[in-house]
Order: sequence, then structure tokens, then C-alpha cells
Amino acid sequence: MQSKDLVQLAEQFGSPLYVYDADKIQSQYKRLTNAFSKVEKLRINYAMKALSNVAILQLLREMGSCLDAVSIQEVQLGLYAGYSPEQIFFTPNGVSLEEIEEVSAMGVQINIDNLSILEQFGTKYPNVPVCIRINPHVMAGGNTNISVGHIDSKFGISIHQLPHLLRIVENTKMHIVGIHMHTGSDILDIEVFLYAAEILFDVAKNFKNLEFLDFGSGFKVPYKKDDIETDIEELGKKLSKRFNAFCKEYGKDLTLIFEPGKFLVSEAGHFLAKVNVVKQTTSTVFAGIDSGFNHLIRPMFYGSQHHIENISHPKGKERFYSVVGYICETDTFANNRRISEIKEGDILSFRNAGAYCFSMASNYNSRYKPAEVLWQNGKSHLIRARESFEDLLKNQIPLPVEKAIV
Ligand SMILES: *Cc1c(COP(=O)(O)O)cnc(C)c1O
Repeated sequence: MQSKDLVQLAEQFGSPLYVYDADKIQSQYKRLTNAFSKVEKLRINYAMKALSNVAILQLLREMGSCLDAVSIQEVQLGLYAGYSPEQIFFTPNGVSLEEIEEVSAMGVQINIDNLSILEQFGTKYPNVPVCIRINPHVMAGGNTNISVGHIDSKFGISIHQLPHLLRIVENTKMHIVGIHMHTGSDILDIEVFLYAAEILFDVAKNFKNLEFLDFGSGFKVPYKKDDIETDIEELGKKLSKRFNAFCKEYGKDLTLIFEPGKFLVSEAGHFLAKVNVVKQTTSTVFAGIDSGFNHLIRPMFYGSQHHIENISHPKGKERFYSVVGYICETDTFANNRRISEIKEGDILSFRNAGAYCFSMASNYNSRYKPAEVLWQNGKSHLIRARESFEDLLKNQIPLPVEKAIV
């Protein structure tokens, strides 16, 4: 979609605003399935925590995607969006046995990531098919907060605990149908991914009745021009070949599963905000926008660099700006960024605003969460209304007036 469309949407729906390009989601989905077209049985479970608007879930369902959910509420949203229980996987971390039981009773495939719950669940429900999440201890990931495969990580069952795991499975006679790993976000090196896959194959050989292998996600997407990204086509070629060879060895066509979040929706998202004030200081020029880390926390949280464009005046002379939010504490989106000359009232567009942006938004500073718009076939669809004052008060219980006065 083009900048002029975005400017028009900001005028129509106000700012700040999230806009998602349906075509981009579709083309990423196709890129991934094409890369693995040589695999007989391929399944994509969209990691919905990246962006869980119901309209986005519906869109992905129409493309043929299934879902990866990490909470019972995500499972409920998925069902609401029209997915059948069989199309949803539950891959939580550290949730209670009760929550796992509840989701399992809905007919959703569960994935267990620790031995304590595995033993309890297996003892109670030996006939329920279970997938286990292993931790291959392969270091991947662009940021320590999102790399989840390393030795001290809280995620998954360590491969060093395999003997204990096997003993639990044997003792409970539970039914293991899948092995899962997710090494973390931002995989740059395909060889590292393939190395982790070998570990998964080694673990898989210990189980006789598998139906699928789930390789998680962690594909890196480009954040700026000439940025490095996971070479999906190359990974597809190499991993498909190895996977097919493994299936032959195993004696069965297993399903290969991926659970991408970022890869499917990151680049489809544009976050639009208006410049409230241009402020010269002794050291820099600040462009202060009508939003903050309450709406887009990734730069402050992960140090992520979202490309920023002045879409109101894209052709102006470039100058250096610090783009900051209106939150009452340090709230920096970009430092010393070269942007086409900014005037107050201009609309700035932040790229890669599809994944972990709206889904991490809050009401901090008692601000409303932005509206969300889906752009499809040259048409806009409002898929979430901007919040209002009633939303801030919802569920709050004021004291009776006389008590509040004491
Ligand atoms: C978050 C998550 C994903 C998605 O990761 P991306 O980097 O967004 O692709 C996949 N699987 C699991 C288990 C996750 O927790």
C-alpha cells in the first residue's frame, strides 16, 4: 500500500492509528508455504500473540492457516474467529495444570513444557495426545529477552532431561504425538536452525507414534532497507530435504509445523502518529508525537528500530530528529534519525508495526488504545474502534462519594 493511502486513512480515522495490509500478510503466508512445498504435510500455526485482532485471525483462517495460542483466552478468541479446536495448538509456558486441563477438554492439542506438569497430566489422562516442548539449548535470537533456547532459559524441557522424560512417558503410558521446539526470535543463521532441527530429530527417534514435528518460529524480518532477514527459501530447500529424509527413516509422513508470528504480520503493519510539537534544544531537534510506549513499546522494551517516514511531506530535505512520545518518562522511538523535514501536524509512519505492537499496547497515562484498520483490495475496514472514556472506567469501582472525601 502507498503512503498517500496511509495519509488518507489517518485523516479519516484519526491518529494514532494501526493499519494492516492484507496483501502483505497473504504474500508472506504464500512465501512460507511455497518454500516448503516439497513437504507432503505442512501446517502453519499462526502465533496469534503477535497480533490477535479477530479480523486478522479470520483473514489468516481463510488463507488456510491454523493457530498457535499461549493462553486460554487466546484459544477462546481463536474459536470465536471461527477456528475449530483441531486447528488450534496450545503452547503455553508455565501455566497451571487447571488451565491445561480446561484447554485440553475443548479438544485443542496441548503442548507441555515441563516435567512436573507432564507427569501430573500423563497420570490423569494417559489417553490424551500430548506434544512436548524440548529445549535444544541452541543460542539464537537478536535480544536476550526473546532468545529462549539457551541453557538458562525457562522454556521447554531440557534435552539433558531426556532420560527422565522417557521414564515419565513409560510409567504413565501417555500418548506423545508431537515434538516441539522454539528457539527464539530473530534467527539469522540457517545453519543454527538446521543444527537445532537435528537435535529435534534425535529426540523424535525415541517416540514411536509421532504425528508431527513442530519447529516453532523465530524468523527474522527486515526492519530497514538492506537489513538482514532469514532466507526462508534457502531454509525451505535445506530443511524440507532433511525433513523428508527423516520421515523415510522414521517410516511415516509426519506433519511439519511452523508457528510464525512476526514473519506473517510484522511488515504488514503501519503505525501512524501525528507530530504535536517540534522542539529545538541545544543538542537536538525533538519531534514529539501524539503517542508513546503505551501504544508501541518495542523500541523502549527491546531496543527495536522501526523505520520512520514523514508521509505528509515525504520529499522534503532530510534532517536529523529524535522522535519521542508524550508519556511522562523517557519515551524514545528513535534517536538521531534522518527524516524528511517535519512540520507540526505531519503524520509519521512507523514500519514493521504488525507484530507485538498493538498486542502489547496499554492504557498507561490513561490514554485510549488506538483504532485498527485493515486495508484489503484498496478498501479500508475499521477492525477495532478507538477507545473512549467509558473503556477507561470499565471494571473500575469508585468508592461511595462520602468515603472518597475522607
Ligand atoms: C512467540 C512465539 C512464536 C512466534 O515467534 P515469532 O518470532 O513472532 O515468529 C512461536 N512459537 C511460540 C511457542 C511462541 O511463544
